[in-house]
Amino acid sequence: MPSDIDIAIIGAGAAGLAAAIFAAETNPNLSILLLDSAKTIGAKILVSGGGRCNVTNQRVNASDFHGNRKLIDRILRRFDEQTTVRWFDSLGIPLKTESTGKLFPVSNKARTVLDGLLRRCETLGVSLMTHHPVRNLTREGEEFLIQHSQGKLRAKRVILATGGRSLPKTGSNGSGWELAKRLGHTVTPTYPALVPLLLEPSFFHATLSGISHDVTLATTIAGKNFDRSTGSLLWTHFGISGPVVLDASRVWVRAAAQGEAVRLHLHCFPHLSIQEVEKWLMQAASLPGRKLVPTLLAERLPTRVAHTLAGIQEPVLSDTPVNLLSKEARRNLVRTLTHLDLPVIGSRGWNFAEVTAGGVPLEEIAAHSMSSRHVPGLYLIGEMLDCEGRIGGFNFQWAWATGYLAGCHAALDIMKQPAAEEG
Ligand SMILES: Cc1cc2nc3c(=O)[nH]c(=O)nc-3n(C[C@H](O)[C@H](O)[C@H](O)COP(=O)(O)OP(=O)(O)OC[C@H]3O[C@@H](n4cnc5c(N)ncnc54)[C@H](O)[C@@H]3O)c2cc1C
Repeated sequence: MPSDIDIAIIGAGAAGLAAAIFAAETNPNLSILLLDSAKTIGAKILVSGGGRCNVTNQRVNASDFHGNRKLIDRILRRFDEQTTVRWFDSLGIPLKTESTGKLFPVSNKARTVLDGLLRRCETLGVSLMTHHPVRNLTREGEEFLIQHSQGKLRAKRVILATGGRSLPKTGSNGSGWELAKRLGHTVTPTYPALVPLLLEPSFFHATLSGISHDVTLATTIAGKNFDRSTGSLLWTHFGISGPVVLDASRVWVRAAAQGEAVRLHLHCFPHLSIQEVEKWLMQAASLPGRKLVPTLLAERLPTRVAHTLAGIQEPVLSDTPVNLLSKEARRNLVRTLTHLDLPVIGSRGWNFAEVTAGGVPLEEIAAHSMSSRHVPGLYLIGEMLDCEGRIGGFNFQWAWATGYLAGCHAALDIMKQPAAEEG
């Protein structure tokens, strides 16, 4: 029986859409079908980057990702950030670089990105079936049998692009991993990543809700330094968020899930060492006048943060002039300012996570093509793999790059040989 279609792509998120476009451009004669469980696709693209979609970064390296960096590097080198910029230009979506190094569409609208991708799919004749969750996927002879909510179809090649579990209401509910597992793949433990963190309710965070400032967050595991990142922290009613927290969350969530003694410490002056902070306080104490501790701290911190931190260990500090601080009180204050132990009790979970840590190991994939090492004719891409980037456009770059490799290679493969002969 002839296959219904040449290439079926399960999941029409960023990675699936990219794969469809590159497969169709590689061979316009192939029939290519995108299947997605969601009623309307692209929800995650639309909410990304605060509704502006941070498409990529001006500099993308394997060190911006967690996972097997050797393989990540091999994959990213085949479709780098400059290629993304040129590709988006060809889609009619010019990009602009912001001072943070992040690239956004010039329109400042994520909708432009989604519309541009869908428009190209339509021009290329790619079919799209929404509201079609795929329930089972089996290899039958030289092709695949796809069982979806409304029936079955046969495909010569299948690209799995079902995402992880972050923001499940967009359709990414982890069901793609089950499809991969049934075909012989493994899935490493998965955790929400790039996710806000909850602090003990009795801590002071709620009083600072809405205030953000630059900090360094240091993560220790069993007392040893493990991770350090600098950037903007946002105090919220539940705990902490903002880019630096999202980046640090991945290490905290994984370590906590594994029962490790993980702690998160706040350094309020990212550009000063502990000695420099102490020197600053001593110099201020030697100046004439009777500047109060919170007033001095407010020269470098938001006023409410300054007042809260001044009163944290010894409330009396709030009313104390800097020059009257005892040596011990000054040392305690320096510790508060540079090594404040944040009482993290958990994360906000999958509904607030931007990505998934863990997934199908990259070692089970051929890095030059994203093809499965276990199942001939199968390709796996995007967030469902055990790789995730930090904040800054890296996760979309991963989606475009892996989509490019799988789309091109699946199309080329069909032109070359039947799936059954591949290894
Ligand atoms: C709030 C938020 C903001 C973000 N902002 C950015 C940003 O600015 N820059 C950045 O780089 N990254 C950002 N990310 C991360 C980025 O959006 C993801 O890494 C990326 O979208 C993953 O693409 P994907 O195609 O692999 O998976 P997804 O986008 O999750 O797509 C998977 C698709 O598969 C479908 N699907 C799942 N299971 C099935 C099934 N069984 N059958 C059929 N279809 C199925 C789903 O409906 C979904 O449409 C953000 C994420 C979130 C949640």
